Amino acid sequence: MQWRSFVLEANAILKVLTIRRIVNAIRVVCFYVLSRITGKIYLGYKPMAVSIEPTSICNLKCPECPTGAGVLNRPRGQMELKQYEVLLGQLGPQLMYLNLYVQGEPMMHPQFAEMVLLARKQGYYTSCSTNGHFLSSGVAEKLVEADMTRLIFSVDGLTQDSYQKYRVGGDLSKVIDSIKNVVEAKRRKKRRFPIVVMQFLVFEHNEHELDGIRQLAKSLDVDKLELKSAQFNSFAQGGVKPPVNNSLNRYVEGQSKVVKGSLRNHCWRQWHSAVITWNGALSPCCFDKDATHAFGNVFDTDFQTLNKSEISFDFKDLIINDKKAIAMCLNCTEGRSFLP
Ligand code: SF4
Repeated sequence: MQWRSFVLEANAILKVLTIRRIVNAIRVVCFYVLSRITGKIYLGYKPMAVSIEPTSICNLKCPECPTGAGVLNRPRGQMELKQYEVLLGQLGPQLMYLNLYVQGEPMMHPQFAEMVLLARKQGYYTSCSTNGHFLSSGVAEKLVEADMTRLIFSVDGLTQDSYQKYRVGGDLSKVIDSIKNVVEAKRRKKRRFPIVVMQFLVFEHNEHELDGIRQLAKSLDVDKLELKSAQFNSFAQGGVKPPVNNSLNRYVEGQSKVVKGSLRNHCWRQWHSAVITWNGALSPCCFDKDATHAFGNVFDTDFQTLNKSEISFDFKDLIINDKKAIAMCLNCTEGRSFLP
């Protein structure tokens, strides 16, 4: 299964490569390395990857997610298709990877499949993460026809009881049906994409299900199973807990707020990617849940002007010289040792 997904990923990346994108990627890497070596900020390119939030609304109440826990301090809503089209125009042909997910459940956007189609017309690698409650066979077929590249399903439990401990309000049977709908649509249409990924967040209450989840992934014929350590924000005051098996936990044993690995003054994401909320805030990364560090609004000012603005430079300068001064970076794994 993992070998199959590797081949598909390689194929998907080769498909989106153009001279422009390769040149842009080389520039991104060079400017990043130069900035790290000198401690000065060098920009002058477009990021390789962008995440756009179709909607910040969600049907579930996951306790460690600011949307689910009801603590997101920015307006709820969904991006208009017209605004999205303008935005794609701003991002241009250098962009390689478009993730259609930030906060909220992306498939709750009524025009989600059209958004994928428009992005694929630009030749972008398209990806999204879903809780899998809105993929009827019709929607699955549309996404397959749109040639979406990667679709990640959150399946954090083997039984309804275990699943709903984190995915509060969710229905595991619906998620399984959604996965089947996509796998079946691919088979019917004789397509290899989207790459179907089953993602399993490991907690104390579900870590005993790892063997079972591997079996389930195999029986559903998904392309990949990803085990992921969960981020804890303590919104739910201990409603769920990190796993006892410390190798599946991103935090130092017994200290749910201390991320393993030393904090280093760099962040690759600041050079190669950006995040845009449904109402246009250009944010440095997905850890900026309330867009408090936003560089501005892409519906008021062009993306690239904001990307190279003084606010963007100042933020990156802090990252390179004093990252510990940014609170959200303390709970982030970026630049630390590899974790599941
Ligand atoms: S939280 Fe900080 S270190 Fe993590 S991705 Fe965002 S800016 Fe980078």
